[in-house]
Amino acid sequence: MAANWYPIVDKDKCVKCYQCVNFCSHGVYAIGEDAYPDVVNPGNCVEFCRGCSKICDNEAISYFGDRRK
Ligand code: SF4
Ligand code: SF4
Repeated sequence: MAANWYPIVDKDKCVKCYQCVNFCSHGVYAIGEDAYPDVVNPGNCVEFCRGCSKICDNEAISYFGDRRK
């Protein structure tokens, strides 16, 4: 559980492919009302996991708490 580490989706880069939503098995994402992925359970994100950003083809995902920028 990581309140100090969770994904942030850049809507300017996101193409709503939902690979991140489907990839994460921790229920961090849901599809929001605006059809972009919504980070609904940031506390479920695993600290230092970068899985969803790695499968995003558009580099739309960064992480709150990430110092490696
Ligand atoms: S994988 Fe990337 S482009 Fe696809 S929905 Fe997620 S953030 Fe958007
Ligand atoms: S970083 Fe890992 S645990 Fe967190 S939302 Fe992405 S895939 Fe899920």
